[in-house]
Amino acid sequence: MARVLVVEDEPSLRFLLERGLEREGFSVLVAASATAGWELLDRADALVLDWMLPDEDGLAFLARLRRLPRYEKLPVIMLTARAAEADRVQGLLGGADDYLTKPFSMAELAARLVALLRRAPVQGPVTRGALSIDPERFEVRLAGQPLQLTRREFDLLLYLAAEPGRVFSREKLIEGVWGADFFGTLRTVDQHVAQLREKLGAGWIETVRGKGYRFVEAS
Ligand code: CA
Repeated sequence: MARVLVVEDEPSLRFLLERGLEREGFSVLVAASATAGWELLDRADALVLDWMLPDEDGLAFLARLRRLPRYEKLPVIMLTARAAEADRVQGLLGGADDYLTKPFSMAELAARLVALLRRAPVQGPVTRGALSIDPERFEVRLAGQPLQLTRREFDLLLYLAAEPGRVFSREKLIEGVWGADFFGTLRTVDQHVAQLREKLGAGWIETVRGKGYRFVEAS
């Protein structure tokens, strides 16, 4: 399932986009600001980006993202509030693959996303030693045996395993894995790590005292 990141500051539109795209069969991540969106970028297969954001102009955000090689090919659809803006977006394009003027239909947005994603492959399986994580199939295998993970456990594992050795604070994990849906405490992260360790066995997720957690390839 392709994962779409929606960066839109207007709460009602963000909600509509989230529900609408989910109904169209996408997995959806949402962010209310450029800052929050940036933190979720590495988990997105495509980006729906509002132009007018409180903390950074959407075009500036886009330019910043395109400078990073790993986001060079990330499909991006810009949302603009007025046709006049659309003209400017078209003029600047700034690395957007497509744009839509508000109001637009969810079906049209979905169709354009599908077309863009067809060009860009969704994230392939991540293999770390005996562990294989397939985001498209939502499947984790350890030494070939499938593991039953919850959606959140899956997202947490994928997030950590994407960068082995990197230490993530619990705050960073909340931002990256739960995003706007987070209603827990720091303990919530600890609980999910504990559940993951139970399922994976020892050696994959290390606690770095006072700092957070990191993924290591178990031997
Ligand atoms: Ca806006």
